[in-house]
Amino acid sequence: DTSATTITITGAGGQIGYALLFRIAAGDMLGADRPVRLRLLEIPQGLRAAEGAALELQDCAFPLLRHIEITDDPLTAFEGCNIAMLVGARPRGPGMERADLLAANAGIFGPQGAAIGAAAAEDIRVVVVGNPANTNALLAADSAPDVPADRFTALTRLDHNRAVGQLTDALDAAPDDIDRLAIWGNHSATQFPDVSHAVVRGEPVIEALSARLGGLAAAEAWLDESFIPRVAKRGAEIIEVRGSSSVASAANAAIEHVRDEQAGTAWTSAAVVSTGEYGVPEGLVCSFPVRSEGSGYRVIEGLAISERSRARMDSSVAELVAERDAVRALGLG
Ligand code: NDP
Repeated sequence: DTSATTITITGAGGQIGYALLFRIAAGDMLGADRPVRLRLLEIPQGLRAAEGAALELQDCAFPLLRHIEITDDPLTAFEGCNIAMLVGARPRGPGMERADLLAANAGIFGPQGAAIGAAAAEDIRVVVVGNPANTNALLAADSAPDVPADRFTALTRLDHNRAVGQLTDALDAAPDDIDRLAIWGNHSATQFPDVSHAVVRGEPVIEALSARLGGLAAAEAWLDESFIPRVAKRGAEIIEVRGSSSVASAANAAIEHVRDEQAGTAWTSAAVVSTGEYGVPEGLVCSFPVRSEGSGYRVIEGLAISERSRARMDSSVAELVAERDAVRALGLG
């Protein structure tokens, strides 16, 4: 079926993969009018789990699902691929140094980027979910020099959605009431969830918080001491409460990232390859407020950045620079 969209999911036998596949096949990502063809890439020890998920997909008899192929060969996985969701990554093992983690992931995302460059369709778009997502995306993009760099993105939509969730609670609002929130920097604890441009039902969030909490100083204290750390450390909170990592919310965010990139959106957050916007060094994969008209995410430019915001952005960008320099020191990226 040539009209179907080919979607490649790496690490498809893992937990996030299991939460992603059924929603994609049901049409939640591309809509009820776009048939999908799934390619599942796994390492050899993950193949059986991916095969099991494929059996269950068959048993759902989703009308939009045209074909499923499972492989451990990147070239086969990315052949003719339109949308790549890079989920599988090497987790940090006990006693593993950051340089070891970056090197192990370079060994995954470099070859996958090269295979995307060699085999993917002309309109390929890539989102990296596996951590360290920003630097993994940079490695993949660098390994595919013939693919325009703006096709490579990394997921910060989960951070964005987490920030919306915290604000709906604090402001007694619905998710759709909140607009213009931004996640800046790295998908890590240094990220900066920024409400300075955000509005709730058209009113600046900072004013709504000040009114509720008894003044601007109280609102800023809540942002610094409660909101920002809670969003940045939400992954650890989920692990503590649930006893295992966030899976369904991560898969949901990946679906929304691709959906909005394809269908268009006026404002969300995503990590994209910097072309120097807001002073972020060119080539870094950094989270920004972005929009899409259906042909890829573009950074929303021209926002006024306060000194408080600048300091937080700079420290997260410094971490991205350090990650990039660490992979370069290994002769990669
Ligand atoms: P998960 O499916 O739970 O997670 C996959 C990746 O997503 C991890 O790198 C994880 O990072 C990351 N992630 C990003 N955001 C989040 C979030 N909010 N919450 C949780 N995780 C997040 O891992 P599994 O171990 O269940 O599955 C991974 C699969 O990938 C395995 O089946 C493995 O075989 C496969 N794999 C495939 C490769 C390939 O195709 N070449 C290479 C390596 C692995 P973090 O670790 O920081 O939580």
